[in-house]
Amino acid sequence: MKRKKVILITGGAGFIGSHLCDCFIRKDFRVICMDNLITGSKDNIRHLLGEKNFTFCKHDISKRINIKGAIDYILHFASPASPVDYTEFSIQTLKVGSLGTHNVLGVAKAKKAKFLLASTSEVYGDPLVHPQKETYWGNVNSVGPRSMYDESKRFAEAIVMAYHRVHKVDTRIIRIFNTYGPRMRMRDGRVVPNFIYQTLHNKPLTIYGTGKQTRSFCYVDDMVAGIVKLLQSNIHTPVNIGNPIEFNMLELAKVLQKVAKIKKKIVRKPLPVDDPKQRKPDIAIAKTKLKWKPKVQIQEGLARTFAWFKDNA
Ligand code: UDP
Repeated sequence: MKRKKVILITGGAGFIGSHLCDCFIRKDFRVICMDNLITGSKDNIRHLLGEKNFTFCKHDISKRINIKGAIDYILHFASPASPVDYTEFSIQTLKVGSLGTHNVLGVAKAKKAKFLLASTSEVYGDPLVHPQKETYWGNVNSVGPRSMYDESKRFAEAIVMAYHRVHKVDTRIIRIFNTYGPRMRMRDGRVVPNFIYQTLHNKPLTIYGTGKQTRSFCYVDDMVAGIVKLLQSNIHTPVNIGNPIEFNMLELAKVLQKVAKIKKKIVRKPLPVDDPKQRKPDIAIAKTKLKWKPKVQIQEGLARTFAWFKDNA
């Protein structure tokens, strides 16, 4: 009998990681989900715990990883990812991006597994080029309050390329732009869960700074589809995946108020230091080489996310 393909998903109990676990269980893979649960949660994978093809392994990948048997694919998604979380877990963030990525690459090399690194639009820092193309090298403050995340992901990209060049590991790098959807942590501090929490708890929406800073928001199902397409491709250099439709935070607040049919007051809070002023992916490579583009409009994605938070949080 043909053996099922085996996929290791680090950070598999996190927001995007848990959606990837669902996706590969649906594709009839054996899924090994590894997570130390500092920002991930068993609630995100509870529905999979009884599946015979699903194994959860609580482990901090910054320490040596021992897995018996074959592994065909590795999706490396372990890392705190919201500014509030990576500030609280600064050292863990640096360790998972460096030591953790090194350990997971070691597994990929030993098992001859295809490897995909979850990198981030934060590698562009506070960008001086707009929109951001993969060829832009970024504008990062190496000692600033976001440096633990930005630099650990930049290091992760560098070590992935080194393993590809030196050890011929079959690697991919995705640069993920702001993503939202069900299973984000309500209190993770990011703007979408913050606004939803505030709407549900009768609090004013917090706008940092002028609210004119921009982001582009990708619904999680589109993101998962992009990740799968990149994994199936032969592109070893970084690829941006995100939704190129850009909003400032005041506009985002308006869309959410419309979706929730509740109008909330706005309160201003100081803009966090080094908060990027603008961010929007150039997705020409994803469109032409992966034949991927996002499908879910913000109104629809926010409606689904709002409904999920209402029922689950
Ligand atoms: N932001 C905001 N109000 C909030 C949370 C965030 O205005 O309650 C802003 C934040 O300053 C940033 C943008 O929303 O400009 C996106 O922040 P988030 O923490 O979601 O992620 P980032 O893109 O900065 O990593």
